Amino acid sequence: MDMNEKVKILVVDDLSEKLLVYRTVLEDLNEELYTAMSGEEALRLVLKHDFAVILLDVNMPGMDGLETASLIRKRFKTRYTPIIFVTAFLDEFRSQQGYAHGAVDYILAPIDPVILRAKVKVFVDLFRMQREVERRAAEKVLLAEEHAKRLFAEEAHRMSSFLDQASKVLSQTLELPEIMNQLAGLNVPKFAEACIVSVQPSTDVDIIHRGVWKNEGMEVSEEALCNQLLPEIMQSITTGNPITVEKPTELNWTSIAEFPIAEVLVQPLKARGRTLGTMSYLNTAASLVERNKNRTLIDELSSRAAVAIDNVLLLQHIRETDRRKDEFLAILAHELRNPLAPLRNALSILQMKEKENVAVQNAGAMIGRQLTQMTRLVDDLLDVSRITSGKINLNFETVDLHTTVMTAVEATRHHFDSRQQKLGVRFPPQQLCLKADPVRMTQIIANLLNNASKYTNPEGAITLTIRQQNQLISISVKDNGEGIPSHMQRRIFDLFTQVDESVEKSHGGLGIGLTLVKRFVEMHEGDIEVFSEGHEKGSEFIVSFPYDASLQVPHTPAPELAHDIPMPRKSVLVVDDNVDSADSMAMLLELMKIEVFTANNGIDALDQAEKLRPSMILLDIGMPGMNGYEVAKSIREKAWGQKTKIIALTGWGQEQDRVQSKTAGIDVHLVKPINIDQVRELITS
Ligand code: ADP
Repeated sequence: MDMNEKVKILVVDDLSEKLLVYRTVLEDLNEELYTAMSGEEALRLVLKHDFAVILLDVNMPGMDGLETASLIRKRFKTRYTPIIFVTAFLDEFRSQQGYAHGAVDYILAPIDPVILRAKVKVFVDLFRMQREVERRAAEKVLLAEEHAKRLFAEEAHRMSSFLDQASKVLSQTLELPEIMNQLAGLNVPKFAEACIVSVQPSTDVDIIHRGVWKNEGMEVSEEALCNQLLPEIMQSITTGNPITVEKPTELNWTSIAEFPIAEVLVQPLKARGRTLGTMSYLNTAASLVERNKNRTLIDELSSRAAVAIDNVLLLQHIRETDRRKDEFLAILAHELRNPLAPLRNALSILQMKEKENVAVQNAGAMIGRQLTQMTRLVDDLLDVSRITSGKINLNFETVDLHTTVMTAVEATRHHFDSRQQKLGVRFPPQQLCLKADPVRMTQIIANLLNNASKYTNPEGAITLTIRQQNQLISISVKDNGEGIPSHMQRRIFDLFTQVDESVEKSHGGLGIGLTLVKRFVEMHEGDIEVFSEGHEKGSEFIVSFPYDASLQVPHTPAPELAHDIPMPRKSVLVVDDNVDSADSMAMLLELMKIEVFTANNGIDALDQAEKLRPSMILLDIGMPGMNGYEVAKSIREKAWGQKTKIIALTGWGQEQDRVQSKTAGIDVHLVKPINIDQVRELITS
């Protein structure tokens, strides 16, 4: 209420002339005057208004003043409203009764205006003062509320910025030990003097611990501490509940006496219904962690941390499965490759023996093409698994792009010929050289040519154009074939992605080729782009590489393979645990008029070599029992074994395999399926 606001006064009397008198007397007070002519009317007004004082005539017909007063007192809101009784006959009894009904004062009639005014004014002022006090109190409450709200907002802000910071920190890494270190760091010194984060990646694996201490001097043996805490950590992990250890020093925590711990809280880290680990808070002094707001923060932090750790563990799981898949792919490709060697050998034998038989030659050519296709697929598979495991090394040298492109054209020409497609090749007049791995560069171009032929109808046209512009060399392979819808243009470079995945339209591919091309291009610091206006509109693939004008190579014509050089008489021992492989190779060599012996395991190989002293050994590496490396080492230890030429024939062509071969004393490391001309050359040399 405003200080200037008028206060309300009620006068109750059954006589209107008396009411008039009151009005005249009280007018000077300049307050708001209400009048009632009966107890009932007075009660009605009291319900509606808040009166500073009520003047009540004791003698009224019907409900008299005393009765009216008692009813007013009964109402909670008006139980303290001052009442002044007006009466003509004051005696002891009445007075007692009046006070018992809560009267505050009496006025004797006939009334003295001065006294009446003075008495009423006292109550009016009192009422005003009371209202003022109430107003001030309300203001204070309001202020206190605002203050509390501000504090709460500040606290909420503090909490949320801590949690924001925590989320940021936790999302910065995907490595488990790192995330655990960061988490421990977030807790110290905010909540504890030391914090140990423990995670059990899966139920069959040991728990990993990572701890952070506030002061370096305080640092105790992490192992001792973790051992001491292990029962509580395990209990929290199995129950999913926080565990508090009070007065741990009294619980025989002697091994860590340098750090007298007064309290421990082991907080579970729960995500997706599993407790992944705990955060243990250790303090030397009175409770830091138990304070309520800290507990709320710790609860919130632990649920965020658990989600982050859960994600990391999931990722680890995915990585592990991916690694196993890659391993499987590598082994699969390797195993698929093994039978290709005897097949290729057997084919060569057939073709040599049946030189004049046209049907055999045609069938042989067909088998040869299928073998080449299968070898290419298997090689691609091997390449992919090497690339994904980061095991591929490029052998960079300066290459003449013209030579590389023509090698790729030669390797793929039969596709164009068999589909009566026209292949145009356009070169700029000048020589263009690149720092590149010639094998991989040929593979890039051959792959694009291969696809262009595959995805273009017979009699279609393909153009290969080499350009040099400023600092770039670009190779474009353009066809007028089936084209690529725009939504697939980015995806076709992903592993195992094909535009049409139906088996009948797969053209015998696996969706690997372009992934390899892109990776090889990137390993040459180049770029690949695809352009196609859509279905049936043809496609163009452009690869570009940085151009360095200073690179040059002398032009050397490719050496002719020496098919007709007569073979000197030599003896060769073929060692392979795959009997077909060994036998077919032996047959091939015999056709070249070479004396050949075979062995199908390491021990037998050593025996035969000892007996026969062959001039050359074709040695398989992966054999059960004694492997090829061990055979080679044993042979090199013998005096007679120094001069023997040892050639490894193996499915493994990685750099480390070659190094291992060299260490074992092997002269040449050939990767299966081998080209028979290579062997012939080695024998003649
Ligand atoms: P693959 O040819 O073994 O399926 P690739 O990785 O070489 O795998 O190619 C992926 C997909 O890209 C192919 O399945 C094909 O749908 C599409 N593609 C590649 N080259 C062409 C092209 N020249 N024309 C149309 N589509 C192509």
